[in-house]
Order: sequence, then C-alpha cells, then structure tokens
Amino acid sequence: MRAITVSPGIANSARLEEVPEPPLGDGAVLVRTQALGVCGTDREILSGVYGFAPPGEGRLVLGHESLGAVEEAPAGCGLAPGDLVVGIVRRPDPQPCPACAVGEWDMCRNGRYTERGIKERHGYGAERFRVEPEFAVKIEPGLGLLGVLLEPASILAKAWDHTERIGARARGWEPSALLVTGAGPIGLIAAMMGVQRGLAVHVLDHHKGGVKEALVRDLGGSYHSDAGVLSQLAPDIVMECTGAPALIKECLAATAPAGVVCLAGVSDTGRSFELDIGRINRTMVLENDCVFGSVNANRRHYEMAAQALARADKSWLSRLITRRVPLGRWSEALEHRPGDIKVIVDFTH
Ligand code: BGC
Repeated sequence: MRAITVSPGIANSARLEEVPEPPLGDGAVLVRTQALGVCGTDREILSGVYGFAPPGEGRLVLGHESLGAVEEAPAGCGLAPGDLVVGIVRRPDPQPCPACAVGEWDMCRNGRYTERGIKERHGYGAERFRVEPEFAVKIEPGLGLLGVLLEPASILAKAWDHTERIGARARGWEPSALLVTGAGPIGLIAAMMGVQRGLAVHVLDHHKGGVKEALVRDLGGSYHSDAGVLSQLAPDIVMECTGAPALIKECLAATAPAGVVCLAGVSDTGRSFELDIGRINRTMVLENDCVFGSVNANRRHYEMAAQALARADKSWLSRLITRRVPLGRWSEALEHRPGDIKVIVDFTH
C-alpha cells in the first residue's frame, strides 16, 4: 500500500512510497483511509524541526488527522465494517504517569507518551491503518468526509473543557464574551464551540474580508482585523489560536476580571519582546486572571468533539475544507495557498 513517509529531522524528506500492510500490533481494527487533514504540525515535521520516527526506524508514516471506514473489527468491540472512524493521536506513556494511568494522556507528566504520525508511532497517512478499538472514535455517518475535522475539534473540546473547569473555581463565573485570535481551522472551531455555548463570539485575524470573515459572520460572530479590539473588548475568555508572539503579548491581562486565556497555538521560538511583567502580574493578581496552555486530547474530548460536530451546521463545516488533494498529488496539500483553511488529502481517488 502507499503511505506518505518522512525522515524526521531532515527537511523536505517526505515522499509517497510503498510500505508493508499495517502490522497487527497497531491494533485489531483495520481501517481503509478516506481522508487525512494536514496542519502546522505536519509542516513542522516536513521542515525537519519536529517529529520522531519509531525507535529503530528511519522513517515515520506522517498524518494524525484521520478519517476512514472500518474494514475489520473484532466482534463485540462496538465497531463494524463500514463504520466511519477517526484514530486518536496520543498513546499513554508506558510507565504510566498518574495522568496516563487514568486515561488523561493529554496531560502526560513524564513526556514519554507517543503520538501517531508525530512522535515514535506511525501515523494515519497510509491507504490502510490499524488502530486499537479503544483508540478509534466512531463518527456520525451523516458527517461523512467532515469527520476528518474530529481531531482538530478534539483539541478545542479539551481547551473548552479546561477553560470551563478553571472558570468554575468561582461559583458565580458566568462568561458572556469570547475572543478567539486566529481564524484558521482551530480558531474557527473554537468560535463555533463558543456559539454553541451561547457566548458573544469575536474573532480577530489579520485577513480582511474573504471567506474567514464570512464564516465568522455566518456563525453569528463579530470579525475583527484590528488588534486594537484586544484592549477594548475585555472578554471573559480568550482562545489564542495563532501562536504568534506579538499577539500573545497583547492577550495577557486583556480579559475582564476572573478571565481565562487559553493558549492553544504552538509558537516558533527565538523572538523576544519587551514586556511589562509587573503590569501583567498586577492585573492578573488583582483580577484573579488565569493563563494556561492546552495541547492534545483524551478520549472524552474526542467524544465531546464528535457531539459538537454532530450539532453543527454541516454546510458551515464543509466550508472549512477549502481544498481536497488526491493522494497522488499529496505534496500540494502541504503548500500554503491563498484562501486555504483546512486542506485534506483525499484517499478515495
Ligand atoms: C496535534 C496534537 C499533538 C500536538 C503536539 C498537534 O498538531 O493535533 O494531537 O499533541 O500536535 O505534537
């Protein structure tokens, strides 16, 4: 079968190649891949700055945003041939740490977790993959190809879960306004989940107009392209989805009292700014503000995300997938093109 593979640590080493069928050791459920989403993490791996091959191997099968149809599943596991499924990305560390021991591998404490298509485990970017039944999440059949949005949605389901747990430290916390920074797939799904919670949703992105603005407006949200909005809005929640240092700096201490800033975007390192830490600390202490980071998702979050996608307007969701590239031309999916939101590799053609 064909798979997209890469030599982690070596820039531009990705290629489509013939690889053996997925080993039984990857799990008892055999899945025929339908689509694979690509994201910034994949681009980082392709540029050689991130990613790890399985121990003893030189190449890594890329891909962690999966969607496929079950071909074989053991009796009684809750999955049957034809079911649409998405594979969970992370696996608990072998020790396991206290978090992994209770199924919260997204909160792994010792860093020895593995991730499909990213860290020491082959990914889902192959014509067929295997997965353990407990790491396969069933998609509502009506979602079809939109199921490929489940993995990115799981990242936001976790971000929302933790934001609300933090907010609930005070019994009277009733957020009303949300600011999302970044109108890429992560920011737009964060905004959609904010609307589902009845919040007044604002999205800040440097693009003026175009499909991103239309998507935010069609959600019922307000779109801003001027970062000045950060100092005027005083939102209860900020979901920072750009990872852009200059913007993150503005998000700190920008909330209403008891505000929560969730950092969900991964930054490049190496840029420094002058920062009035005294002002930020003073505001955060005197207003009980909280800033926290959030990565990955456990099974509970995938299930929350599946419910959120099932409740969403399918025609709105389908506009998030702006380009589908057939497997034979996979490398085009990794290119940045104007108007791109989520780009997927289509394995059905
Ligand atoms: C994935 C996460 C993963 C993170 C760090 C993200 O792109 O969606 O599941 O934990 O990268 O490797």
